[in-house]
Amino acid sequence: MQINGNAVEAHSGEFFDIINPATCELIDRVPKGTEDDVEVAVEAASSAFKGWASASPQQRARILYIAAGIVRQRKDELAVLLTREQGKPLAESKNEIEGFAHVLEYYCGLASSSHGDFVPIPQNGYAFTVKKPLGVCAAIIPWNMPALIMAWKIGPALISGNTLVLKPASNTPLTNLTLASILSEAGLPPGVLNIVTGPGNIVGESLVKSPKVKKISFTGEARTGKRVAELAACGMKRVTLELGGSDPMLVCDDADLEAAVLGALRGRFYNCGQTCTAVKRLFVFETVAEKFIKKLEAGIRNLRVGNGMHENIDMGPLNNRRQWEYIKKLVEDVEEKDEGRIVTGGRVPENGVCSKGFFFEPTLVTDVPRESRLLKEEVFGPVLPVVQVKDLDEAIEEANNTCYGLGASLWTKNLDKAHKGCEQLNAGIIWLNQHLKIAPEVPFGGTGQSGIGRENGPDSLSEYLDLKTVMLKT
Ligand code: NAD
Repeated sequence: MQINGNAVEAHSGEFFDIINPATCELIDRVPKGTEDDVEVAVEAASSAFKGWASASPQQRARILYIAAGIVRQRKDELAVLLTREQGKPLAESKNEIEGFAHVLEYYCGLASSSHGDFVPIPQNGYAFTVKKPLGVCAAIIPWNMPALIMAWKIGPALISGNTLVLKPASNTPLTNLTLASILSEAGLPPGVLNIVTGPGNIVGESLVKSPKVKKISFTGEARTGKRVAELAACGMKRVTLELGGSDPMLVCDDADLEAAVLGALRGRFYNCGQTCTAVKRLFVFETVAEKFIKKLEAGIRNLRVGNGMHENIDMGPLNNRRQWEYIKKLVEDVEEKDEGRIVTGGRVPENGVCSKGFFFEPTLVTDVPRESRLLKEEVFGPVLPVVQVKDLDEAIEEANNTCYGLGASLWTKNLDKAHKGCEQLNAGIIWLNQHLKIAPEVPFGGTGQSGIGRENGPDSLSEYLDLKTVMLKT
C-alpha cells in the first residue's frame, strides 16, 4: 500500500507476485491489501481533503505540472517498467508514458475553468451556482493501459480538489506506484493520492463500499462494472463506468485500401489486441474484399512478435495467463466448430524467445458466420475476424448488432457515406478514415454495455464536482 508516495506494509503481511508476461519471470512482489488497508487509505484521503480542496486551482495545477515534467524526464525508465509488467513493446510504453504527462498537463490547463454561474430569476432577484469537490473518490483500473487510465482518473479528480484512493490491476501495479511517488516528489501533500494493491474482490469491493468514498470511477470488464454499480447503488454513490467494447471497422468500396490496411493492423494488433477500442470486428464491402484481405494478410505476416524489450518488435505477449488461455481456446473452437477460415496465425509461436511467455500469433479469420463467438464476445487479443457485406446499410446493421457501443470507424472518401455512418453507428466515438486515436481534449466513453458516463474533455470535471444553487431575493 502507498499513502501518497510512501510505502506502507499491508495489514495481511502477505505479498503477491508480479510476472513479466514475455518471460514468465518474477519481477517484483507487492503487498496484498486488505479491507483494513483500504480504510487506512480512505482515512488518509479524508484527512487530506480539507487542505487540498481549499488550495487554489493554480496551486493544484502547479504540482501536477511539475509531476508531468518529471514523468517526461524519466520516460525511458518508466517505459521499461511498464513493458516489463505489461508486455507491450517499448515504443508503445513510451507513447503511454508521454500520454500520462499529456493528460495531466491538459487538466492543469482546465484548472480554473470549472466555476458556477449567475442566473437572473424573473420577478425574484437572482441565483448563482457554486461547484464543490465531492471529497474522497476511488479509482479502479485495468492492466491494459495502466499509466494512461491512471491519468484519466487522477487528472480531473485532483485538479477539482478531491482526494483519491486508487486500486491498480493486480498484474500491473508497479508503474502506478512509481507514478504516485513522482506526484509526491512534485509536492502533492500527504494523503491526497493513495494506492492500495491487492485483489479486486477484496480491495476493490471494500473501496466501493467504504462510507467515506463519494464517487467511484471504474474501468474494466462489463461484468465487474455491473458488480461495482450494484455496490455503489447501495451507498447512493456517483459512479462512472468505462467498460469493454467490440468496435467495428467498416471498409467501403471507395476507401483508400492501403490506409485501411494500416488502420486495421494498428487498430487490432496494437497492445497485442488488448485495447478497449481495438478493431474487434471488420466489415468490408464484398467488391473489394479479396484485394483488401490479401493486403491485410501480407501486413499481418510482416508483424514482428517478441519480447517488447527487444528492438523492432511490433507486438508483445498477452498480459496474463488467463487472457492467453482464453485466446488459445477461442481460436481452437473456431477450427473445431468450423467458425471461419484461419488465413494466417492461429498458433502459439514455439521458437526462441516466444516459447516462454504468453505469446500468440497475430491471427486473421475470414468467412466468419454471424453467430460466431468472434463477433459476439469482446475478443481481447490479437485475433481479427473479417466479414463481407454487400453495402453500407448491411455493414451498419451488422456493426450495430452488439451489446457494446464504445467506438466504430468508417473508411470511405464519400461524404454521404461518411455522414450516414456518423448518424447511424451506435458508439460513443466514431472515427472517419482512422481508428484508435484517443485524445484527452474530447469526451471518451460508450453506450450500452460499454458503460455509463464520459471521461476526458472539459465536461469531465463535472463528474468530480457537486453543484450548489444559491437563490437571492432582491
Ligand atoms: P477487470 O474488470 O477484470 O478488472 C478491472 C479492475 O477491477 C482491476 O483493478 C480488478 O482488480 C478490479 N476488480 C476485479 N473484481 C472487482 C470487484 N468485484 N470489485 C471491484 N473491483 C474489482 O478488467 P481487466 O481484465 O483488468 O481489463 C480489461 C477490460 O477493461 C476489458 O473489458 C476492456 O475493454 C476494459 N477497458 C475499458 C476501457 C474504457 O475506457 N472503456 C479502457 C481500458 C480497458
